Amino acid sequence: MALSYIGLGGNLGDVCATFSHALAVMDGWAGSTLEKVSRTYRNPPMGPANQPDYLNAVAALRTTLSPLELLDALQGLEQAAGRIRAGRRWCARSLDLDLLLYDELRIDQPRLQIPHPGVHRRAFVIHPLAEIAPEALVPGHGRAAAIAAHTDASMLTALL
Ligand code: ATP
Ligand code: CA
Ligand code: CA
Repeated sequence: MALSYIGLGGNLGDVCATFSHALAVMDGWAGSTLEKVSRTYRNPPMGPANQPDYLNAVAALRTTLSPLELLDALQGLEQAAGRIRAGRRWCARSLDLDLLLYDELRIDQPRLQIPHPGVHRRAFVIHPLAEIAPEALVPGHGRAAAIAAHTDASMLTALL
C-alpha cells in the first residue's frame, strides 16, 4: 500500500459539494482508503485573474493503485465532475485533482511528475499539506512543515 497526497482545487459551481463527492468516490475506490483531509482554503486565482477565487484542500489517500492508475482515476473523476479542458492552463474549472506525492517516489514523465512541481512553491498546496502531514517528505525539497514555514500564506483563508 502506498500513501499518496492529492491536491483538490476548483472555482466553478458548488465547490465544497464537489470536493465532498470526490472524496467519497476516492474512499470507495478498490484498495483505497481516505485517511485525512485538510481544511478547505479560499485563495485568489493563479494565472488568469478574471475568474472566481479558488477553493483548495489536500487529502491523504492510502492506495494499492499505481501512480499512473491513480492519475487515470483522478482524471476520470475530474471529467465526471464536469471539468471542461479549455486547452489553456489555469482556467476556471469545477474540479482539479493533482497527484502531489506518492510515498517518496520521484517520477519525471510528460504525463506525470511526482512530486507535482507546484507542491513546494504554492502556498495553497503546501499549507494544507503541512496541516495534515507536517512530516511528509517532498523529495528534493524537505519536510512539508519546513517548506510551509517559508511560504507566504497571507492570501489564504481557511473556511470554518
Ligand atoms: P498545474 O499542473 O500547474 O497545477 P493544471 O492542474 O491546471 O496545472 P491540468 O490541465 O490539470 O493542469 O493538467 C495538465 C497535465 O498535467 C495533465 O494532462 C497531466 O497528465 C499532467 N500532470 C503531470 N504531473 C501531474 C500530477 N502530478 N498530477 C496531475 N497531473 C499531472
Ligand atoms: Ca493544478
Ligand atoms: Ca491538474
